[in-house]
Amino acid sequence: MNRRRPTGVRPARWTFLLLMAVGIGAVAIACGRQRLYGRVLDDFEGPFRLDGWSFDAGTEFRGARGRFRIVPGEGYRGSRGGVLSYDFSDGGRYVQALYPLPYRGSIDGVRLRVRGDAGQELALRIRDTTGQVFQKTVGVIPARWTDIDIPFRDWDESFGGPDDGVLRMPPISLALMVVHTGPTPQGAMWIDDLRRIRGARDSSRVLRLQPHPRLTLSQRDLRDLRRRIRRSGVARAAFESLQRECDRELRASIQVPRRGGQVEHWYACPTHGARLETKSGGRHVCPIDGRVYRGEPYDSVVVALKHKRLRRLAPRFATLYAITRDERWLRATRSILLTYADLYRSLPLHDLHGAPGRGARVWAQPLDESVWLVAMLQAADLIWTDLSPGERKRVETGFIRPALEDVIRPAHLRIHNIQCWHNAAIGLAGYLLGDQRLIREAIDGVRGIRSQLARGVNQDGQWLEGSWGYHFYALYAMTHLAEAARLAGDDLYRGPLRSMFTAPLRAAMPDGSLPPFNDAPRLDLAERDIYELGLRRFGDPAMAAPLLHADRTSLRALLYGVDPLPKPPRSTPASVSIMADSGYAILRKGEGADAAWICVKYGPYGGDHGHLDKNSLIAYRRGRMILDDPGVGAYLTNLPFGWYKTTLAHNALVVEGQNQAPGMGRLLATLDADAALGALTDAGPATGPIRHRRAAVLLGDGLLAVVDLMRAEDGRSRWLDLVWHPEGRWVSRQGSPLSGDQRPGYRYLRDLRRASGRTAYTVWFGDRPAGDRRRAVRMVTDQRAELITGTGVGASTEDRTPIAILRRRAESAAVLTLISLDPADRAPIGSIDRCVTAGGKTIPMGQACWVTVVDGSRRHRIVVNPDGFPIRDRAEIIRRQLDWRSEPADGSHAHPRGYSL
Ligand SMILES: [Zn+2]
Ligand SMILES: [Zn+2]
Repeated sequence: MNRRRPTGVRPARWTFLLLMAVGIGAVAIACGRQRLYGRVLDDFEGPFRLDGWSFDAGTEFRGARGRFRIVPGEGYRGSRGGVLSYDFSDGGRYVQALYPLPYRGSIDGVRLRVRGDAGQELALRIRDTTGQVFQKTVGVIPARWTDIDIPFRDWDESFGGPDDGVLRMPPISLALMVVHTGPTPQGAMWIDDLRRIRGARDSSRVLRLQPHPRLTLSQRDLRDLRRRIRRSGVARAAFESLQRECDRELRASIQVPRRGGQVEHWYACPTHGARLETKSGGRHVCPIDGRVYRGEPYDSVVVALKHKRLRRLAPRFATLYAITRDERWLRATRSILLTYADLYRSLPLHDLHGAPGRGARVWAQPLDESVWLVAMLQAADLIWTDLSPGERKRVETGFIRPALEDVIRPAHLRIHNIQCWHNAAIGLAGYLLGDQRLIREAIDGVRGIRSQLARGVNQDGQWLEGSWGYHFYALYAMTHLAEAARLAGDDLYRGPLRSMFTAPLRAAMPDGSLPPFNDAPRLDLAERDIYELGLRRFGDPAMAAPLLHADRTSLRALLYGVDPLPKPPRSTPASVSIMADSGYAILRKGEGADAAWICVKYGPYGGDHGHLDKNSLIAYRRGRMILDDPGVGAYLTNLPFGWYKTTLAHNALVVEGQNQAPGMGRLLATLDADAALGALTDAGPATGPIRHRRAAVLLGDGLLAVVDLMRAEDGRSRWLDLVWHPEGRWVSRQGSPLSGDQRPGYRYLRDLRRASGRTAYTVWFGDRPAGDRRRAVRMVTDQRAELITGTGVGASTEDRTPIAILRRRAESAAVLTLISLDPADRAPIGSIDRCVTAGGKTIPMGQACWVTVVDGSRRHRIVVNPDGFPIRDRAEIIRRQLDWRSEPADGSHAHPRGYSL
């Protein structure tokens, strides 16, 4: 198994500590079936043994040395054991002990005893009968003898052989690998008592492939659909809309471009990030300054848009044919498919930068080729029986097989939205052609949909990149595959796929749009017609909510639309809801789209699509954003890294003018009283040496109070910029002009002014364009600070939106920010005070503080105490991390407890 393939050195998926805490029994239960520990494969005993073990130094990384020996006295309790010694002093990444598995039956995994020297990681590889190798990281090697189970599933990676990620039993050899992750380059791993975990009976499903069509609709579905078109208003409207679109498009030309296209991400002005406009004579024009761009990559994007149109039309024409049997649609579909079939292999492979020899043919990357292939496969399936055997062969060998073999299958990604599209293309091709190998790869392979669902969807049901855009992108791909699987009798809708439908419903703002966190635009759930499918498959009335205000004339509305819609459950008028795995604390007060809604984002970094924004928050009220996240602008310009991903682009804390580190914060406490809803979060390691704790408290439904506590763990003072992005335009602010600087994000700021010398500032912003309906931001701090105001980037560099930065140099600081969510004539009033412990000690403001906020006739007192000090409040001692009291503003009839109101 000494194949020359790098082994990734990644953080352990489980550490042994976790394994021990969970217990071997629980791990076995998690496998979902009963299992027994089977026969010993090798206990290293006996003087005359056939020793099948061998050593390999992972020679694709040069420099590792080591050996594997069987040594008396070195095994468990002084028996004979295996010793894999290593020396990474001169380089190398791993060493491995290889063992030919003598067992020829089904085997679910191995159990062994293991111990080792500090910090190195254990990984396992097995090779199956086809020569395919499967690999996974097991965890950090424990210092003491520990029994561990390594099930033969949940692989990190596979390669070699048919390269489809499908393990064929039995494996013929095994390798135990020490991956160099520890502090000391030399040491050893000891192993003993290697056993097999007995295999369950082969669980591979027998597929029942129906006659065509079988990817989007069965023949029975088609009969149902014809009936629904007669009876249901929704189905009829969607059908008529489909007919109108197809009629219109067929009258225009149905020409397949004779060349490949380029990704749409290029179609933005490099300077302003605005989408270009296509004009005659090969001109691509920036709408902001009228600058004309010519040539590549822009010309190829226009070509891609033509392919994109056909990608949309082919399944629509084919669906219309399946419903009506009108030959016009058959001819149009057939013509598109056969033209691609004859053209495909002659289109040169090209990548995102136009470089030849890699990428894709119709498009510039395997992802887009997959999305296109899915549509073509669905179209082909609907007319499959109307094609002659020769035409079917042309389609199969013309583009289906070449797209899979040259472009899509070799492009491995692990758990990734892109891989979900690759899977859909591979799987749909398998179902169309009746190719079981392709089906198994797409469904059960290492990178298959089951693996994506098990590892790519968090406990809240959110896709792991933390972007609702990619969430739906992955979901669309998975449902294409799940539909075809369903028609073959394989139900993928049980489990995490359902939670992918419900998670956005929980995270949505009161107007049904989704927060533009990480790389995502602000999506409107009413435009997510995937809920037509969700409601049809799950029958869950909650999934009707996005459809209530939807257009319902899409292809999905036609295929799946439930009519009439069930009544979705009403949202509760006041709630604090936590999506713990995603890291959202959502405060909501009020009814319907008018509600006030706040979301604090403290969770995991989103990887490639993440933003550096721990403890940032956004605020919504009455159909508009009051504090927003700009989402992401045009990719492939400087703006994503220059602005959108930066900490400065968020309502967050910037330390020393630098971006936060990728990291994960945590929720410390919530406050759920009728008149005050709150969450207290910790930015975690993202803010480096500054401990940043933030309490966001929604008072009533019109006032947001945010308390930021900042403290340097090393006692050194630093520049702290607390940043706010009110939506709209400035109508009143203070200070004298200031020039910008070049730090991350800051160079995109304009119209800067600086005011200084005070401990409180109020600025006013109003709606665009007139600046009417004013709202205030009032910032109060415990020491003098500067206030910098200006404009930042919105949808493009010329879309200017207000930014306010409260700047202080401090090692410990507290800031209260009050934001009126409704238009107001007067600024809210607030103050900030020290906390005193039960023992009479004054706590530094960066660790705990009291704030007082006067809102109309009421005075709110909020204590923010993340470390849980015993804090004296008049005759009472408070230990809560976040607490609130309310009393009449004139001081009479003081209520000791806000909760009793
Ligand atoms: Zn421009
Ligand atoms: Zn963002």
